[in-house]
Amino acid sequence: MNEHDFQTRLIHSGLDRDPLTGASAIPIYQVSTYHQPDPEHLGRYDYARSDNPTREALEHAIAGLEGGARGFAFASGMAAISSVLMIFQAGDHLVVGEDIYGGTYRILSTVFQRWGLKTTFVDSTNLAQVRAAITPETKAIFVETPSNPTLKITDLAGIAAMAKEHHLLAITDNTFMTPFLQRPLELGFDIVVHSATKFIGGHSDLIAGLAVARDAEIGRRIRHVQNAFGAILGPQDSFLTLRGLKTLGVRLERQQQSAAGIARWLSAQPEVKTVYYPGLNDHPGHAVHRRQADGDGAVISFELHSRELAVGLMKNVRIPLVAVSLGGVESILSYPATMSHAAMPAAERERRGITSGLVRLSVGLEAPADLTADLDQALTAAGKEGAP
Ligand SMILES: *Cc1c(COP(=O)(O)O)cnc(C)c1O
Repeated sequence: MNEHDFQTRLIHSGLDRDPLTGASAIPIYQVSTYHQPDPEHLGRYDYARSDNPTREALEHAIAGLEGGARGFAFASGMAAISSVLMIFQAGDHLVVGEDIYGGTYRILSTVFQRWGLKTTFVDSTNLAQVRAAITPETKAIFVETPSNPTLKITDLAGIAAMAKEHHLLAITDNTFMTPFLQRPLELGFDIVVHSATKFIGGHSDLIAGLAVARDAEIGRRIRHVQNAFGAILGPQDSFLTLRGLKTLGVRLERQQQSAAGIARWLSAQPEVKTVYYPGLNDHPGHAVHRRQADGDGAVISFELHSRELAVGLMKNVRIPLVAVSLGGVESILSYPATMSHAAMPAAERERRGITSGLVRLSVGLEAPADLTADLDQALTAAGKEGAP
């Protein structure tokens, strides 16, 4: 199937129809176990934590799309990330981008730290800082690009080359881009993880996680954890994730087209101090991003001149949800200061540009003109409320 265009491969993954009946989707195998005609020689399926045909179809699909040897589906993005981290052992050291997802930061700095996995957080946009953090115990580099919420760009090929030189695994969280826009394994990464809750699921009706290993040996290590730890994705949610994958391309294409227009519109508004979007020419990571990704994505962050404006905007918008999460068909406005980054000390938050004026917008499939008109009326209303 790899000779086909990505859009075609999203629909026809190779396990896209039921082998038994020819049905147009892999059925939801809502089962826990399988009858064994010969108890001395178990069949391909024996217990559904180990293997389920619905989950397997999804795992096959994501492996193909990311260009890896093996894919895995987990109960959430955090289950995928945690299961991947479990291939390491006590005493191992990881170099991790400081702007990774808050949940990844939390589990590394609490649970995994208690179990003896050591982590150094660095600014991964600065390759010299990453290199300086590598010790003889280092086993992997873990980065995320674009990062959340200020969409900083890390040079994936640069990180992959450094990892190779030091015999480390290169791991990245590709949630914001999805394989439709960015395929890190092709740039030399070893493992890609996803929160499929976001763009891949795409409809804000599902929690799911995925991981893909570039080669079979790393695949075996993740498979061991998946089966032993058991944080698997259930068959219903595997079905929904497969369904989401089929429309990922058309959704993201349209969403990022709208996002580009909204980012330009926001840049021209007097209430807006800064717009963070990798598609803008003045974004510091613009050139690197364009080199390693096929598009700019549908997440924009922007800083308003005051906390009052930001809060007023969120109270006055009518179309977007005001919520955590992103990547759905509906636009979602988030407030990092009290949502994703609430646990971060205020001074650290400010240092990273996550001020009380910062708002993140995940652009959905609504008509872009309706979205800008809504943002416009909400900014105007917020300005009037904030006026002395
Ligand atoms: C949401 C998110 C996660 C966590 O995924 P869940 O499905 O919520 O467990 C991990 N990484 C990124 C970049 C995310 O946005």
